[in-house]
Amino acid sequence: MLEKLVAVKGMNDILPPDSARWEWLEEKVRALMQRYAYRNIRTPIVEPTPLFVRSLGEVTDIVEKEMYSFEDRLNGEALTLRPENTAGVVRAVVEHSMLYEGGKRLYYMGPMFRHERPQRGRYRQFHQIGAEALGFPGAEVDAELILLADALWKELGLKDVRLELNSLGQPEERKLHRAALIAYFESHQDLLDEEAKRRLHSNPLRILDSKNPHMQAMLESAPKLMDFLGQASLQHFNGVTAILDASGVAYRINSRLVRGMDYYNLTVFEFITESLGSQGTICGGGRYDYLIEQIGGKPAPAVGWALGVERVLELIREQGAAIAMPVPDAYAVIPEAAALPLALRTLQALRAAGASVQMHAGANADGMGSMKSQFKKADASGARFALIFGAAELAEGYVAVKPLRGDKADAAQAQTLRPLDDVAAWAHVLLSQVQAAR
Ligand code: ATP
Ligand code: MG
Repeated sequence: MLEKLVAVKGMNDILPPDSARWEWLEEKVRALMQRYAYRNIRTPIVEPTPLFVRSLGEVTDIVEKEMYSFEDRLNGEALTLRPENTAGVVRAVVEHSMLYEGGKRLYYMGPMFRHERPQRGRYRQFHQIGAEALGFPGAEVDAELILLADALWKELGLKDVRLELNSLGQPEERKLHRAALIAYFESHQDLLDEEAKRRLHSNPLRILDSKNPHMQAMLESAPKLMDFLGQASLQHFNGVTAILDASGVAYRINSRLVRGMDYYNLTVFEFITESLGSQGTICGGGRYDYLIEQIGGKPAPAVGWALGVERVLELIREQGAAIAMPVPDAYAVIPEAAALPLALRTLQALRAAGASVQMHAGANADGMGSMKSQFKKADASGARFALIFGAAELAEGYVAVKPLRGDKADAAQAQTLRPLDDVAAWAHVLLSQVQAAR
């Protein structure tokens, strides 16, 4: 036997029945986005490398060490598997002049790639669902996006998701804060780790984001950006919190919340849970009013968030709504291969009428398998009914419908014969019986 090939480390197969959870989540998201009038956008998984370097910032974890970058083998173009999708969305919005007639509300779902150390809640291929509102300057849109995420947690049955909020202000305000921050860190040189020392002058704000336990007390007393905000920035922040207050959405102001990309300004936020261990941030976002211009577009404000699908699904597993695993409505038992043409014609009509039907398929070339083994499979499929395409019934123009679940003594549970020539007429009866049994 040849050596087995396995998936790339940190990249997961999503298999049934677990994939049903993914589909369930995606359906919930689609329905919710429709209610908030956000429209789906799908951009390529591969983008030119400079797009990410320019948007995320050179001195960020992602650009410094997490990107899957390679050269196009024909023209040598520097390409990267997208580590996030805000940059791609902005590129598309600019490329297609999408803000020409005013703001756009967009959402996406899909795989992202980061070369991180794989662990619980942290993978090299992972999935994000994101929402972006581009072309709107007001705090009400920041609030709308937070309310949308909050509604999603409720829709998914998640509890104990905490919202943390901060304002990064505007570039001039950050400049003043940055100077104060560097002075503060310099006076605590002995407490800085290697990474912090390296970033002291290139990106001191990011040091606030450090998870190093030995630095936490020192970071707690560092100069707060909030104290450097001018009137307009404070007003924007208060605009967001006033709407959250009025909507009953609880939040905690975290002056150390800075996020991992350089493109943010004003509002930043994260949704965090204590139930997932150290990978507890399930969603993060904020305003990025200068990114569109940086990608070469006409200046326009924007705000958005992205959630980690794997982490949200794990949280759903722990505390969310029970998700019904998909089962067929009926399983087709086909005793003899000679019945296949008529049987498949009937199954097609049932499916056209909306029923989910699983066909028995022979396990080997010389037959369909015993009735006993077929019924065993029918049972295991979870189907409510077995359709039995026996030769005698078929000759009379009928198929037998046998209930597989429920009270055997119940008269309504008796086996019935249904005509093959008018499937639509009884398909809806079968479907309503399935519905009633759920
Ligand atoms: P973290 O601090 O956990 O590394 P991040 O700030 O890098 O997160 P973002 O870039 O804001 O994360 O991405 C938004 C969300 O995507 C995160 O809150 C998280 O839920 C999820 N996420 C990020 N990186 C990964 C990963 N490697 N594996 C799984 N999910 C991830
Ligand atoms: Mg990260």
